Amino acid sequence: MMEVETVVIGAGVVGLACARALALAGREVIVLERAAHVGTETSSRNSEVIHSGIYYPPGSLKARLCVAGRDMLYAYCRERAIPHRRLGKLIVATSDAETGILARYHELAGRNGIGEVSWKTADEVRELEPEVRCVRALHVPETGIVDSHSLMTSLWGDLQAAGGDVAFLSAVTGGRRRPDERFELELEESDERLVCNELVNSAGLHAPDLARRLEGCGKGAIPQAYYARGHYFTLSGKSPFSRLVYPIAESAGLGIHVTLDLSGRAKFGPDVDWVPSPDYSFDESRRDPFAQAIRRYYPALDDTRLQPDYTGIRPKIAPPEAPAADFRIDAVRQHGIPGLVHLFGIESPGLTSAFAIAADVSAVLTGQRPRTV
Ligand SMILES: Cc1cc2nc3c(=O)[nH]c(=O)nc-3n(C[C@H](O)[C@H](O)[C@H](O)COP(=O)(O)OP(=O)(O)OC[C@H]3O[C@@H](n4cnc5c(N)ncnc54)[C@H](O)[C@@H]3O)c2cc1C
Repeated sequence: MMEVETVVIGAGVVGLACARALALAGREVIVLERAAHVGTETSSRNSEVIHSGIYYPPGSLKARLCVAGRDMLYAYCRERAIPHRRLGKLIVATSDAETGILARYHELAGRNGIGEVSWKTADEVRELEPEVRCVRALHVPETGIVDSHSLMTSLWGDLQAAGGDVAFLSAVTGGRRRPDERFELELEESDERLVCNELVNSAGLHAPDLARRLEGCGKGAIPQAYYARGHYFTLSGKSPFSRLVYPIAESAGLGIHVTLDLSGRAKFGPDVDWVPSPDYSFDESRRDPFAQAIRRYYPALDDTRLQPDYTGIRPKIAPPEAPAADFRIDAVRQHGIPGLVHLFGIESPGLTSAFAIAADVSAVLTGQRPRTV
């Protein structure tokens, strides 16, 4: 029987940020990760955008944690020289009907306290981005991009410096809450059990399933998992854009937008493709719908330049027809079990929010605000 004070399951960006915050708060922390590296799932299959916090319902966890997490992330990137750029983004309305939605975003921006957001006319947009066509746009200077791999490597380094570490190839298959109120975990291909006082389930797409496999941990409130795959196409050659360009958001995603990586390469995505189980295969027949969606704001697109790139899967906890669910940080107040935190539905803006989620998780477990940056 191995014993450790605190276990975090999952070494994605959120699990690593939680482990780091708990280690900085004085906990002895081990992260159990079933893969051989950090960030092999959603944390390396996303847009790498530092979101401003504009879209989310005021007062929601997404709204609060995105704005707080964004500022913490920029501060951390500056301090640790993590590659990032505050490029700004344009959200474009391509019809008069869509300008009403932009007005709603503008109002949300104010209520969510995201900072400066300004209206742009079609001519002003052409000056900023000569290839983009629209009726009107909102300019959001706070949006940026980050190298998520450098970020995760740095978080892992901080965790080690604070005395913790990641145990790779350690898949948690189940566990239970013991009569002494500690948690006993079973690991794949091991007869050894790991016992801990505190447990954070940060298993991303698999968090609901894992929660169901923990006996005595309150099964009633565990959400159903749904999977919304998104494809990305890269634009070969030189990028015609110098900032991010987003259409009006759709119900389960933010619309097929332009993002840039730190080398300046443009990519488009992600679309929304509901799948019954996590499946990263790439459906190349998506090229035509992509080209159609992109031409609404970038009419000069040469679709032979679209190269299939990768897919990512949103860890949804609401079905396709329902409005997007908020993040869930289920702790003692939600399930009645001290020492246990489940993170459910940590889809976008989870990368942006990672430091703020970690601060909340650490505060709920330790009763103190951790030193997060
Ligand atoms: C298409 C797409 C685009 C996105 N774009 C953005 C964006 O631009 N900006 C933004 O802020 N957010 C974005 N997000 C959201 C962001 O990527 C996620 O919120 C974030 O990466 C979630 O991190 P995580 O650590 O919770 O999950 P993950 O990265 O999925 O990590 C979970 C880890 O748990 C491990 N694991 C699972 N089960 C077990 C087990 N039983 N035992 C041990 N280990 C286990 C997995 O191997 C994995 O490493 C996007 C998401 C998607 C899908």
